[in-house]
Amino acid sequence: MIAMALSSSPKLLIADEPTTALDVTIQAQIMDLLLEIKQKTNTAIILITHDLGVVASVADRVAVMYAGKIVETGTAKNIFYHPSHPYTRALLKSLPDTDMDRSIRLVSIPGTPPDLLCPPIGCGFASRCSNCMKICQTDLPPEFVTEAGHVAACWLHHEDCPVKLEEVNN
Ligand code: SF4
Repeated sequence: MIAMALSSSPKLLIADEPTTALDVTIQAQIMDLLLEIKQKTNTAIILITHDLGVVASVADRVAVMYAGKIVETGTAKNIFYHPSHPYTRALLKSLPDTDMDRSIRLVSIPGTPPDLLCPPIGCGFASRCSNCMKICQTDLPPEFVTEAGHVAACWLHHEDCPVKLEEVNN
């Protein structure tokens, strides 16, 4: 499949969950192959995945999506070390850590994603966000620059917001 996709020398390769359902050895081989292709042919790759380990190890830039929208973009370092959207923060907290005390329960995000046949008018994460404010339910948050090259679509970053992300829980 990868060979077929490359036969026309594309400038951009979209790899949608290329490692899903593969064992870790094959997974590593596929990712090595994709990185080799990128280096040799200068083909840009959009990698769509739920595997945050793969994201952390290969991505130059990361876009986090929730309810069909990009809610945060930045370098892998920005996203993993300074997550700026409550969904990204909650997602990272839900990951198991091998050094973690086994008596500590993993954090889960309460609720369920919105019905996209009848999408919410405000922030898509509002019904699950413990920091939800009135404006979140009525107005779609625009992208706010949180640091160079790092943006998050969340009202907590508005200059007039009385609450700051560092002060909230998720
Ligand atoms: S815009 Fe509001 S509801 Fe959406 S993530 Fe930010 S604080 Fe939560």
